[in-house]
Amino acid sequence: MRGRTVSNRHQCPAVGCNVSLPRHLLMCRPHWYRVPRALRAEVNDAWKAYLATCRGKHDHDTVLQALARYRAARESAIAAVNRIANAGPAP
Ligand SMILES: [Zn+2]
Repeated sequence: MRGRTVSNRHQCPAVGCNVSLPRHLLMCRPHWYRVPRALRAEVNDAWKAYLATCRGKHDHDTVLQALARYRAARESAIAAVNRIANAGPAP
């Protein structure tokens, strides 16, 4: 088992972008700001709600629901940024 350290960094999920990011950032700044504002807000809200359920005394289903909401928001944001990136350079 060599050359495989557990990394707390990941790559920006936008197509063609290989910026390395700390785990708490979903994507690099230029890509993040291409995500529609409402979707950015939803990702942030969902993430905070998920953290809150993790900290509090919640049943497993509540935590899973919060996680599912965050994942859905994250996927939407990634899909949005890739749709915009694939549409060509910003005007
Ligand atoms: Zn990026």
